[in-house]
Order: sequence, then structure tokens, then C-alpha cells
Amino acid sequence: MTAAARTGAAEAGPRVTDHRGGVWSIAVPIPDNPLGHTLVHLLETGRGPVLVDTGWDDPDAWDTLTAGITACGFDVTDLHGVLITHHHPDHHGLSARVREASGAWIAMHAADAAVVRRTREAEPGRWLDHLIAKLAAAGAPDSHLAPLRRVRAKGPVRDLPGQRAALPDREIAPGALLDLPGRRLRAVWTPGHTPGHVCLHLEEEHPARRPGHGRLFSGDHLLPGISPHIGLYEDPDDATPADPLGDYLASLERVARLAPAEVLPAHQHAFTDAAGRVRELLAHHEERLAGLRALLAVPRTPWQLAEAMEWNRPWDRIPYASRTIAVAEAEAHLRRLVRLGLAEAVPEASGASGAAGASRAGAAGASGSEPVTYRAV
Ligand SMILES: [Zn+2]
Ligand SMILES: [Zn+2]
Repeated sequence: MTAAARTGAAEAGPRVTDHRGGVWSIAVPIPDNPLGHTLVHLLETGRGPVLVDTGWDDPDAWDTLTAGITACGFDVTDLHGVLITHHHPDHHGLSARVREASGAWIAMHAADAAVVRRTREAEPGRWLDHLIAKLAAAGAPDSHLAPLRRVRAKGPVRDLPGQRAALPDREIAPGALLDLPGRRLRAVWTPGHTPGHVCLHLEEEHPARRPGHGRLFSGDHLLPGISPHIGLYEDPDDATPADPLGDYLASLERVARLAPAEVLPAHQHAFTDAAGRVRELLAHHEERLAGLRALLAVPRTPWQLAEAMEWNRPWDRIPYASRTIAVAEAEAHLRRLVRLGLAEAVPEASGASGAAGASRAGAAGASGSEPVTYRAV
């Protein structure tokens, strides 16, 4: 971002919304991202303001955040604490800088704190090996694996995103009422988008007395017009197959039962009718699972399944990095189908001779990870 552009953004002023009752949102830009911005929420408490999420670690985002806090009538140095809905960099990116400027504590669910710790301590080369092996096992073609292998062959990998993310000082315990004087804010564990995602339920009457039960800071769990990415909880040290999509669907039902009068999400805009939005998302995933099961009438690897799935654009126009994410999404759906007894891995001998990608088996085999093929049951 050039200095001129930054001045321009500053002149326009931060986009701050007063949601009343001591709650504001600040639209903090995410550089080069179609999502546009993170809605960082500021909650006034008896011990000073508390932030829900912080935004992407970027100079322009920092300027917008601090100007936004000023527009709410506070200073960044007044901050008492930071509550993180989940560890993604558009939510947790600026936390270290906020803590440094204010002395505020940072709180996060233990499962996401473990991801932060693991990422900080990981040897980047090991992560890359893990990713290559995983993609090979998913049936990724050589053309997709080659760039990763080239980076690996170059020698030590220096930097991975998230390696400088702040370690939290406190844990957000599921179900707990948070220690915030003058407020009733309860943590609701909503795993799925990440293993330790939390929503925060402000159990106070809606300032406009809208029907329902308080307001919900929903992070990325419940968004008005986006179905959040559900991949796999990547952990090279844990071979237990998690079921993130199953977790997500159960978490959706959990927040619908809270029946909040209004939802304050971390992207897009505030909205009402949480239960209606939950129904839409449940129906979307149910439809998607049925569609994938139909595709598995022909045995396919996760990669082949991702190629055949419907995305927001044709597969050959999906950028490289997004394909890796798309395959993780396909695998999350496969895990759910397997858990439901609706799909199964094809035993190796018959998999190799299956209709799906015998040509690819050789390519992936070169990395030592044979691709696994799945079929409908
Ligand atoms: Zn996220
Ligand atoms: Zn996000």
C-alpha cells in the first residue's frame, strides 16, 4: 500500500457503527482479500473497553483500528482485554500489537491456542512435508505438488504465515460467563471453522428491545451471506480423524437454540433471524453431502471429488492456493459421509484398478503417499 493510498484511507475515516448499549463495530481492512474487512467489535466494560477480534496484521489495518477506537470515544491504551473468536489472521493478526500498545490480555479457546502454539513452534519444512504428503494422499496431480516440492528442495523454509501470532494470556472456557464488570457475556464453543472457534453471547436485553435473547458475536461461525470454509483441523502430530463438518453442523444448532435477537458477525453486516440463517446453512450442507454422495457412485480420490464439485467458478479457473483449500473442504465432507456410513474408502487393491485416476496413482506414489479412493455405500 502506498503512502498516498494510506492517507486517502485515513482521510475517509474509519467505518464505525454504533450498535448501542456500549457496543460498536469497526471495519478493519484485509489487504488484497475479496472479503474486504473484518468487523472488529468494541465492548465497553467497567474496566475499560474490550475488543472482540483485532484484524489483519497490516499498517493500514492498524491505523484504521486505532482511528476506529478513537471514534468510539476511547484510546487504544485504554483497552482492558481482547477476546479472539478464532486464530485466523484476519481475527487474531493485530492482537500482539494491541497488547503491546495497551497491556490488554488476550483470551482464546484452548484448542485454537494450541494451534497458535504449534504454528509458532513448528519447523516450517516439516509443515511443508506434511502438506505435500497430505495432498499426495488426496490424489493431487504432480502439477499441483511440483511447486511445493521445489520450495522444499531449495533448503530451509524460513517463514510460514502465523509464525509470529500472539500466544494468548487467558483461556476462554466453554459456557463460562466472562469476567467483565457490568456485562453479561458468555462463551459458546462452536468448533467447525476451527477447532476452538467461539461465539460470544451478550446476554443483555437488545437495546432496541428486539425479540429474542440478547446479541451474539458470531465470528466466522454464522455469517449472513457466506458459508464459512470447513476444512480439516490440520495437526501433523494427531492422526485421529476429526470430523470438522460434523462439529460445525452441531455448533450451528447450538447457536440457533440461543435464539439471539441480533447477530454481530465478523464479516459483512449485522443481521436478525439467526435460526433462519442456521436452517439455510444446514440445508446447504445437506444438499452438498447428497450431491457428493451421488458423485461417489464412481470411486474418486478427494482431489477428483473436488474437481467434480460445484464451486463459485469452474475448477480450471480456481487459483492454485484455493485448490488446496477446496480439497480440504472436499475431505471434510468425505469424513462426514464416512461417519454417517454413506461412503467408504476403497480397499487399496481394488482402488488402484478403480475407474478413478489410475494414471494419477503413479505420480502421487512418487512421494510415498498412495492416494485413497472413496465410493458411496
Ligand atoms: Zn476464519
Ligand atoms: Zn474471518
